[in-house]
Amino acid sequence: MSAATTAATGTATLRLPDVTLPPEAEKLRTEVREFIAEERAKGVIQPQSDPWLAGLDPDFSARLGQRGWLGMTWPRRYGGHELPSLHRFVVIEELLAAAAPVGLHWVTDRQSGPALLRYGTEEQRQRMLPGMAAGTTFFCIGMSEPDSGSDLASVRTTGTRDEAAGGWRLNGTKVWTSQAHRSHYMIVLCRTAPLADGGRHDGLSQFIVEIPSPGLTISPIRLLDGEHHFNQVVFDDVLVPDSMVIGQIGQGWAQVTSELAYERSGPERFLSTLPLLLELIRVADPTDRRQACAIGQLVAQLWTLRRLSLRIAGALDRGEAPDVPAAVVKDLGTTLENEIIDVTRSVAPVEPSLNSDDPLARELGRAVLHSPGFTLRGGTNEILRGIIARGLGMR
Ligand SMILES: Cc1cc2nc3c(=O)[nH]c(=O)nc-3n(C[C@H](O)[C@H](O)[C@H](O)COP(=O)(O)OP(=O)(O)OC[C@H]3O[C@@H](n4cnc5c(N)ncnc54)[C@H](O)[C@@H]3O)c2cc1C
Repeated sequence: MSAATTAATGTATLRLPDVTLPPEAEKLRTEVREFIAEERAKGVIQPQSDPWLAGLDPDFSARLGQRGWLGMTWPRRYGGHELPSLHRFVVIEELLAAAAPVGLHWVTDRQSGPALLRYGTEEQRQRMLPGMAAGTTFFCIGMSEPDSGSDLASVRTTGTRDEAAGGWRLNGTKVWTSQAHRSHYMIVLCRTAPLADGGRHDGLSQFIVEIPSPGLTISPIRLLDGEHHFNQVVFDDVLVPDSMVIGQIGQGWAQVTSELAYERSGPERFLSTLPLLLELIRVADPTDRRQACAIGQLVAQLWTLRRLSLRIAGALDRGEAPDVPAAVVKDLGTTLENEIIDVTRSVAPVEPSLNSDDPLARELGRAVLHSPGFTLRGGTNEILRGIIARGLGMR
């Protein structure tokens, strides 16, 4: 059976056909590695855990755009390159493995662009996609709220029709909005019709909000290490013109959930602490069997997850929606990201410290401070397990 939902049972399986990367994709890998070597030589790439959250370099994003490595799968008429997802997979896994600073464009390239391609108007696509593919236009995601995270359908930010102004007035508060202060646009999920009995998923809509906009206030929520990544975003009667509605009013839930396979299946869900593992391998004592076994187990798990993630990229190319395998990748992958930290602590005589001269101690310190987010962002592991159980017909 395939991972597609079966008509008869309404359940999915986790079996996806194996994928072999075509020679052109491997040729592309060589080009990306050469580019990475050049960027490393210039000092642009410094190994650090969680590069897709904390590695921020607008010039680097623009250089990737110039190389044609953003919007790779999108149509050429919108600045894309019409390549298969497998080519994109090769580029992003190389960039992540090298800990390149990809944080500014990550969400835009992975999620917001495909969302506009699927549901955006022709005007929105022509206006925004070329800049996204060039690595000069950045989007952020306005879904979570102070009392709505896992239970996203309970969002309380409202969109109210303003006929006279030809648009919608947004009121409410979003939290944990990654990079809102560095983005040009936010895709906001809000309630445009009151909660109806039994219809929690109805009456939600998506809007593109320009940043800055009158009535929009963005304030920092700092990470444990003091970095400014997250924000609280308050909407006080923010006017969004009709031309910035994504898809159909009232269809926001279906639109948001269709992004999930893109959001959850990529190699960023198991490579966040690879720089730490690489550092551990670099200093490991080849005669220490305990270290060798621990590292071997981690590498075997990484390789398995990579294969599954690759198969999902293949499924996306075939137009499938492999939500359940994507949830598996994210659950197992983020668990492994944390395990790399635990194993390092147990097999290496090192104390985490951001200020240490020892690269392993520094990397461990960084990874520890970023680790609380791994299993939360993009849907918590408890929620993912519920999705997997439901997908397999066990719930
Ligand atoms: C690094 C990072 C970046 C983020 N970036 C963004 C962003 O850019 N935009 C955005 O909108 N959001 C963002 N988020 C928010 C993220 O999506 C939420 O944190 C996540 O969805 C969980 O919601 P919550 O924090 O409100 O926790 P809650 O939903 O309150 O959950 C708290 C705990 O209860 C558990 N729980 C809740 N419901 C259930 C249930 N039904 N069954 C079992 N257990 C349950 C959860 O698993 C969790 O452990 C980001 C989060 C992080 C950590």
